[in-house]
Parts: sequence; C-alpha cells; structure tokens
Amino acid sequence: MALKIWLNDKLVDEAEAKVSVFDHGLLYGDGVFEGIRVYDGRIFELEAHVRRLFDSARAIRLQVPMGKEELIRAIETTVAANRVHDGYIRLVVTRGVGTLGLNPFTCKNAGLIIIADKIQLYPEELYEKGMRVISATTVRNHPLALPPQIKSLNYLNNILAKMEALDVDVPEAIMYNHEGYVAEATGDNVFIVRNRIIYAPPVEAGSLEGITRAVVIRLARQEGLEVVEKNLTRYDLYVCDELFLTGTAAEVIGIVEIDGRAIGDGRPGPITRLLRDRFYSYARRKEK
Ligand code: PMP
Repeated sequence: MALKIWLNDKLVDEAEAKVSVFDHGLLYGDGVFEGIRVYDGRIFELEAHVRRLFDSARAIRLQVPMGKEELIRAIETTVAANRVHDGYIRLVVTRGVGTLGLNPFTCKNAGLIIIADKIQLYPEELYEKGMRVISATTVRNHPLALPPQIKSLNYLNNILAKMEALDVDVPEAIMYNHEGYVAEATGDNVFIVRNRIIYAPPVEAGSLEGITRAVVIRLARQEGLEVVEKNLTRYDLYVCDELFLTGTAAEVIGIVEIDGRAIGDGRPGPITRLLRDRFYSYARRKEK
C-alpha cells in the first residue's frame, strides 16, 4: 500500500513526496532527524523525541517550521493515516531550499518530512544468540567539532565505522572518541556489566543522548541494579561480563563477541536478558 507522507504542512501521496535538489539537507546534510517507534498503536516516548529534535535544531540554529504541540499532532495524524500499529516514524527537518553555497540563511523555509512505516528489525535469532561487533578505527566526531548529541542529517562519521563492521561481516561497530574512550555504536548506545554493576559511558564521551538508554537506565534502577556513568576503554569492553547496546530500532541487544574475543560465556548475559525483557514489556504496555 502506498504511504501517506507528511511533507511540510500536509499529507501527500508517497509518489508526490519529493524534495528539491536545492534542499541543503541533501546538499550539505544540513538538518536534523529522529527515529521513533510505535508499539501497539502508541508512539513511544514521543515527547522526549520531540524535545531532542528541538534541541538538535536549536544547536544548529534551525527553526522547526511548527511548534512542539503542532508537530506532535502532525506525527499522530501521519501515524493514523497510515494505520501504523507497530512500526517506525522518521521525522526529518531540513534546512530547506537555498542557493548552491553553504550559506544556510539563503534557505527561507525549513522542510519537514514525517514518514510512518513498518520497521526492519534484527532477526529474533540475533537477540537469542547475541551479536558480534568490532572496534572501529574511525574516531567518533570530536564533541567540540560537531557535538554527537545533535542528531544531524550528517551521519558520515558513523557510516564510515559501519562500513568497517560490514566489511568483516558483523552488523555493528563500537566507536571510540579522540581520547580512546568508548563513545557509542554507530546507531546505538553502549553498556557493560561487571560484577553486577552496569556501566555506561557518559554522553560527554561522544554519544547521542539515547532515549532508549535513558529508559533502560531507569528500568535497571527500578530493578535495584546499580548504574554508573563513567568513561570506558577498550580494555573494559574486553574484560566485562556482559556487553549490550540500546537504541530505538534494536531496543536492548546483547553483544557476545568484540574484535574476535568472546564476552562472558559467549551468550547474552542474565542482566542483558532481564533488561531486554523489562524494556520489551514496558514499551508494549505502558500508558501514553
Ligand atoms: N547513537 C546514535 C548515533 C544513534 O543514531 C542512535 C539512534 N539510532 C542512538 C545512539 C540510540 O538513540 P535512541 O535510543 O534515542 O534511538
């Protein structure tokens, strides 16, 4: 079935949902975005995603073409129009149409795109058996150059690392910052467990402030587990008991091998499985 896409100020047919070649989102990756899940007809953590989108936009001096409330209504309208009960929303704000130079001030109106569709998930088997990762040689963007908290349309830094992983047939890569500390995976946040304590690199180490990350930290604490944010090195990942990633698409996924070394006993560990379980039921049953 053809989708209805929200384009700027209204829903249009998928075939009409086209963007100008002069949009600076395309020409320069100048824009911001969000990926959001729909579970059981409910939009998961919608306000947190909208807040992060506005923060990202503010950080790059981009005016979102509508207010938060109006945007929430546009998202809900798009989800309803496409009858998405369980799926994924891609929310994009581009700098808009301008001239060929870098100057963003030639772009008079920011572009807004909302896509509500099905989601491509990792196979269930990967959650049961756990995923392999490598350490990327591509260093995460220096936070003083482009703060990784900004969910910008320019993902080249992560894409270069992702290719390193795909080159050796693993789905994900861990990225380190300019000081060698763990930043994040190419599209997910990183956690480890050691002696039943959960450690997460601080956001300032160079990661997106993941919304799944925040939910998982909250759920872990509700389970009485200690969560500590501290800088982690490659050594910490090599010797940890459990390693897992969190993200909107992946939810919570156990990592069982890094750089050819087994983690723990080579299967997703008990705390990873507990948190995956808790997250799964929280996402699907929670009131709006
Ligand atoms: N880091 C990066 C680079 C991401 O793109 C994402 C989102 N896919 C995440 C972390 C996870 O963030 P969230 O839980 O908000 O999806």
